[in-house]
Amino acid sequence: MVMATARTPWFAGQRALVLGMARSGVAAARLLAGFGCRVTGLDLAVSSYLAEEQKALLAEGVALRVGPHDPEWLAEADLVVVSPGVRSDHAFLEEARRRGVVVVSEIEAAFSVSTADVLAVTGTNGKSTTTAMIGSILAAAGRPHAVAGNIGLAYSAVAFQEGTVALEVSSFQLENIRSFRPRVGVLLNVTPDHQDRYADVESYAKAKASLFRNQTRDDAAVFQDGDPWGLRLREGVRARILTFGHRKPDGDGVYLAAGRIRAKLAGRDLELLEGRRVGAPGPHNLENAMAAAAACLAHGLPADAVAGGLESYRSLEHRLEPVMEIHGVRFVNDSKATNIDSMRMALLSFEAPILLIAGGRDKGADWESLLPLVREHVRKVFLIGEAAAVLSRSWLGVELVSSGTLIEAVRQAREAARPGEVVLLSPGCASFDQFQDYEDRGRRFKDAVRALEEARS
Ligand code: ADP
Repeated sequence: MVMATARTPWFAGQRALVLGMARSGVAAARLLAGFGCRVTGLDLAVSSYLAEEQKALLAEGVALRVGPHDPEWLAEADLVVVSPGVRSDHAFLEEARRRGVVVVSEIEAAFSVSTADVLAVTGTNGKSTTTAMIGSILAAAGRPHAVAGNIGLAYSAVAFQEGTVALEVSSFQLENIRSFRPRVGVLLNVTPDHQDRYADVESYAKAKASLFRNQTRDDAAVFQDGDPWGLRLREGVRARILTFGHRKPDGDGVYLAAGRIRAKLAGRDLELLEGRRVGAPGPHNLENAMAAAAACLAHGLPADAVAGGLESYRSLEHRLEPVMEIHGVRFVNDSKATNIDSMRMALLSFEAPILLIAGGRDKGADWESLLPLVREHVRKVFLIGEAAAVLSRSWLGVELVSSGTLIEAVRQAREAARPGEVVLLSPGCASFDQFQDYEDRGRRFKDAVRALEEARS
């Protein structure tokens, strides 16, 4: 960390409450305490993570209050910092606003300290991947940088980073910003999601649009070409606009022509790299790569670093992550695919026949809509978990095996696979019927594959 690059934030020395003490909340509490704030962290319970950090936090001057939040605590606060996981309409926050206590999100607190340029990514799908791709390009360009947000570190934990921060931001965090201003803001796509959380898609889209609110003409905004929400949200944007998509843009942007990723910038047209050289498979990753390229070119990074960074990029864990190859059979972990849209992307990502491991806790998906794609790409399906019944009713005419457990599915798929084929875990379902979370499911898949390999050798 390079302390020299910090600036003194407006909240220095204030009395602050941090609502939600998971990773980001803990990092924010530390940051605030470092600037002389009197900080109290609030959470309903002590997670194992918080238990680990508790002693160190106390030593750093951060107090903790566990259990239901008492509105009276607000009487002794100037400021509430909200963790990414907390709803912005939380009663405690509404009460804080009513009392005139300042409410800001964790990214706003970190932004007030940071001197790095922020390249921020939001959208419904592909945020982590695109942010990581930007990180890979910054690395290829040899620039000092950090990658933060949902992936790994909180922004508050890298607030002293010099150079550039590639930051994944959710719409929750954008709801409580004041001055947050990314040098480049990327809006990947807006599809109906989180509808339990937002009254309608419009207010969800509006939250996303606040990414661009504080930008000036010196900044850049990246939109998906043809995305109807992107088109609408673009209207009030002051920043220079770039697009990414499948046709040559009228203005500046990154696009695909004959399988090659190209850029059109200030009248120049150049080739970046062949699409198939991007280090993560699938049409969705091609889009993420184009978005990352547009963001980095807008930031002035050289075209060869963009190409190099996208080529050397490797899939994040649990997202079409290659596990290993055994006897010419590739095993791929896509445990993050917890819905059928993600499963669709996965099926489109391989030319080789797929042995698909699917199932888990069904969320009421329209499985039949996927049938043509399954028939085209999948040779055999191995069903696990609760969704086995609905899947076998929906996918008629597909060869189905009731494996029950993941371990059994891996074993059966291994037996059935022929060289050149892909054994793909892309469950299309939530994991909670058999696993702690999708990460647990993905790790167990990888363990099972490795155990097969060990048994063989
Ligand atoms: P997020 O951080 O927005 O959740 P991730 O990069 O973690 O996104 O990707 C999660 C899943 O979303 C992937 O496994 C893939 O199935 C799907 N996905 C990724 N990028 C896109 C995209 N550009 N368009 C549609 N779906 C995508």
